[in-house]
Amino acid sequence: MVEAYRPQNYKQALELMGEERVVPFAGGTDLMVKSGGLSGCAVELDCPAMFIGHLEELKKVEADENCIRIGAACTYAQILENRSVPGILKTAVLRLATPAIRNAGTIGGNICSASPAGDTLPVLYALDASVVLESVNDTRTLPIREFITGPGETFIKNIELLKEVVIPNKNFDAVFYRKVGTGVVNSLSKVSFTGLAVIEEGAVSGIRVSFGAVGPTVVRSKKIEDHITGKNLLEIKKMVPQLARSYSALIDPLDDQRSTACYRKSVSLRLLEHFLRNVLK
Ligand SMILES: Cc1cc2nc3c(=O)[nH]c(=O)nc-3n(C[C@H](O)[C@H](O)[C@H](O)COP(=O)(O)OP(=O)(O)OC[C@H]3O[C@@H](n4cnc5c(N)ncnc54)[C@H](O)[C@@H]3O)c2cc1C
Repeated sequence: MVEAYRPQNYKQALELMGEERVVPFAGGTDLMVKSGGLSGCAVELDCPAMFIGHLEELKKVEADENCIRIGAACTYAQILENRSVPGILKTAVLRLATPAIRNAGTIGGNICSASPAGDTLPVLYALDASVVLESVNDTRTLPIREFITGPGETFIKNIELLKEVVIPNKNFDAVFYRKVGTGVVNSLSKVSFTGLAVIEEGAVSGIRVSFGAVGPTVVRSKKIEDHITGKNLLEIKKMVPQLARSYSALIDPLDDQRSTACYRKSVSLRLLEHFLRNVLK
């Protein structure tokens, strides 16, 4: 039997984290599966769990002229209802699991689980999101690409909570997200692709491309993006084979029960090609 805490407020939650080892959880849709909710994949929790899904400070969505701040314990249902959340994040959330899971699962849980197939992650990488981590005595902010270090691994300390994710405001002229899974609903990603671009006078003045589920963490290359930036749309179309080769060298998928490495790589490059040839206009 697992002991569990339900702190009365956020301050108490942080204090508890500082005093003893506890595992925080919000929706529990990842943690319960890992800790024995499903037979055959049980990992015993060796310390108390702490429910944080009710804490007001973690459930806020606040937008100003610079950014939007989404509390870590915001559920997907809450994110879908909020008018300030970028459309591309909502598109990804709508393809994630089922309404029942979206009512319980949170963006903070998706980030902290750091699964290579976590569906919000490639979108958050492309949006240049940062995470705010808080302990009793400290608050620090890290770009999400630095926070996630490997499959299931992050830079969070065991005295810290993920408080919120911060997304800078930016408008894009080309926006493309695609998740490829076995079914239309309730299937984990075999591959996911996010493409965003700003186009001015027929040339790309900014571009962001990210791939999910094709490596230990999200694949995004600032170097390749800088190489594309400044080129006009005709030049970019001519560069597609070369760009596909550059990304191919970075995409390193696994064979697993959901798909093969070969399929994943070839679909990723097809999505890239579609974005560069047909979505950039
Ligand atoms: C049937 C099913 C289908 C699913 N389909 C998808 C899918 O299509 N795509 C997808 O990406 N995921 C999917 N998931 C996984 C899961 O629903 C998501 O990752 C969800 O976002 C997890 O959020 P949660 O609040 O339930 O996390 P929890 O289980 O509460 O926590 C997950 C991990 O994060 C840590 N954590 C949570 N919040 C914090 C915080 N604020 N600070 C510090 N640590 C924290 C916990 O300690 C735990 O290690 C699915 C899960 C199930 C059961």
